[in-house]
Order: sequence, then structure tokens, then C-alpha cells
Amino acid sequence: MKQTSHIELHAENYRKNISFIREQIGSGCQLSSVIKGNAYGHGIESFAPLAETCGINHFSVFSAYEAYRLSKVSDGNSTIVIMGVADSDEELEWAVNKQVEFFVYDTDRLLHAIQCAKKLRKKAFIHIELETGMNRTGFSSSDLLQAVSIIEENRDHLVLRGLCTHFAGAESIANYFRIKQQIISFSKFRKFLLGRNLNFDYQHLACSAAIINYPSTINNMVRVGIMQYGFWPNRETQMKHFTKVQSHENPLHPVISWKSRVMGVKDVREGEFISYGTSVLAEKNMKIATIPVGYSHGFSRSLSNQGKVLIRGKRLDVTGLVNMNMLIVDITNAPEIEKGDEVVLIGNQGDLAISVASFGELSNQLNYELLTRLPEEIPRRVVY
Ligand SMILES: *Cc1c(COP(=O)(O)O)cnc(C)c1O
Repeated sequence: MKQTSHIELHAENYRKNISFIREQIGSGCQLSSVIKGNAYGHGIESFAPLAETCGINHFSVFSAYEAYRLSKVSDGNSTIVIMGVADSDEELEWAVNKQVEFFVYDTDRLLHAIQCAKKLRKKAFIHIELETGMNRTGFSSSDLLQAVSIIEENRDHLVLRGLCTHFAGAESIANYFRIKQQIISFSKFRKFLLGRNLNFDYQHLACSAAIINYPSTINNMVRVGIMQYGFWPNRETQMKHFTKVQSHENPLHPVISWKSRVMGVKDVREGEFISYGTSVLAEKNMKIATIPVGYSHGFSRSLSNQGKVLIRGKRLDVTGLVNMNMLIVDITNAPEIEKGDEVVLIGNQGDLAISVASFGELSNQLNYELLTRLPEEIPRRVVY
């Protein structure tokens, strides 16, 4: 038995994205592949091994749970960093034991890390996260002094792997002032820590957008999510790059495509309504195809009467409401379509493409949200 749709990951496109990103960051910089949110919907279990075969050996995840999933499929030579939750003794001890690195963003986490390290007689590999203006997680100047003395007292139990912060919207020029303040604040913190003889292997601030919009923040490590998957953080960042290189050739190529098959076709007589309710009245004799993908599979209900799919090399309209498990496509102008034909929901077919961005614009969702809503159960396979 199998799922009603599947996701393909295109290895060649991933290689291109990585080589573009490496060009931007230079050879001395560690590229950490951000795979939180089930690798932005690409599927940790399929995506991470693909990334490793393309030379990636550093990953950032959100939780200990994701780190654990990654550790099960990794080739074992990759560094894993947990940027968020690892709260129970079990989780943090697992991390320390496996030399999985993690963000330390408050005193509580710092003490917990030291406690685990002492208990296991191993060092905790930590990244100190600084609060520079996002007001989410990280040490602010008021609690940093105390943290520094705790670190100094427990130097033997800690490896200071990284000093980091995260920008509050580096993709948009509207946040320019705020981001600049964050950059200044980070460098003050760093000087202060250096003055206390606290030296970190890596300084990392930049996400995808910052690499393009604030290249001075690249430093010796970056945490890149959306761009490695072949998407720009937003249009503004894309335009910034196009302007800089004076070219409209897109260096990023979507890794993901999403496909299903036609479940059935039928005729609808003039004057009949299609699908639930009365949103579509057949104004002439029509032909429709049913596709076994609905909002429960991540195909947003707001794409009702809006979305497009590709079948037999034609771009066709989603007609009527998107149902929980099905959607309906108007094939009046493509009567050759048969049950079993391939349906592209995202990706290419022939010369045509359905981009995640177009999908997003119609449904008012961000690329990020749209991708991560693709359910874990949809099977992923890598195509070379
Ligand atoms: C998600 C995330 C990133 C990656 O952001 P992109 O915009 O996808 O490159 C980097 N750092 C942190 C802390 C994040 O949460």
C-alpha cells in the first residue's frame, strides 16, 4: 500500500544551491545546513544523507528530537547543533554523551549543561547565544556577567564552540536599523568576552538573508536554511542579488517537487455544481479530474478555485473547494487526460513549472510555512 502522493528531492539542484552559497561565503567559512521543521518539509531522513553526499558535514536543528532523528541517518561524520529545545535530563545527557552541540541561551541551560557534563565526565560543546535585539532567546548584558563567572568556574567541563545570535528579519530593508543595531551589539559582546579570555571557535550570526543583505556578518560560520532548498527568503533579497550581479539568471533551484496521479475523470453537465456547495457552476459541459491530495496533505484550502497543477504538460486550474483528501481539476481543455496520469503539484513537467512561490502567493502563505506543512507521512525519494 502506498501514499497518494510523493515528494522528489533533486540532487543536482541541491549541488547547484550549495555551490552558489559557498561562492557567497568563501572557503574559510563553515556552512551549517539548517534542517529544522523536518528539513523545511523536505524530510530529515531523505534530505540529510543527500546533503552529506554533497559535502555538508554540519547541521543545525531545533530540538533534541530532530537531532536524534538526524543521528539515526547521518554518516556519523557530521556535527549536529541543537538551536532550541533539549530540556529534559535525558535529552541533554544524550547530547553531551554523543558530543551533539547545543545553544546555551540562559543561565538555566548553562547550569544544566555543566551538571550533565560533570555527571557523564564528558565536556559539553556549547554555543553561547546572545540577545542582541530579537527579544526571543539569548543572554542579555544583564545576565551575561553571571554566565561568564559560571563558565570561568567550570571551564574544564565546557568546550566553547560558538558565539551566536539571530537576526530579527534580515530579509527586509524595513528592518535595516534594527539589524545594524544587532550587529553592533554582537560585536560589543564579543569584545567583552574576549577581554575575559573567552574565545569561541565559531562566530555565527548570518542566516540566508543576511548572507545576501549583510555580507559583513558572514564571519567563520553561517546557518543556512531556505536558500539551500532553492528558495529566496523573499523577493527583496532576490532582487538585491540580481541587482548586485546585474543578471536575472536565478542561481537557486528548488530541490523539492511534489507529485500525485489522476484518480478519476468524469463529465459534468452544464448547469451542475462541482464539489461541495455552490462555488462552481458548470456554465457549459465540462470535464474534470480528481486528484487524491487535499488540505490534510498540505494542499491549502485557500487554493480552492485558485491553485494550478500540471498534467500532460498543461497548466490546469483547481476548480471548486479543496477537500480534505481530494482536489478537482478542470480538464475541459485537456480531454486526453486519463486516470493514472502524473500530476505535478509543485515542480516541473515538460517546459512548465509550478513554483512554491506561486503556490504561496495564491494561498498567502510564506515559502517557509508552505514547505513545512507538507506532512511527514508523504514518502520522499532522492532523484539523481
Ligand atoms: C531558521 C533559522 C535559521 C535559518 O534561516 P533561513 O532564513 O532559512 O536561512 C538560522 N538560524 C536560526 C536560529 C534559525 O532559527
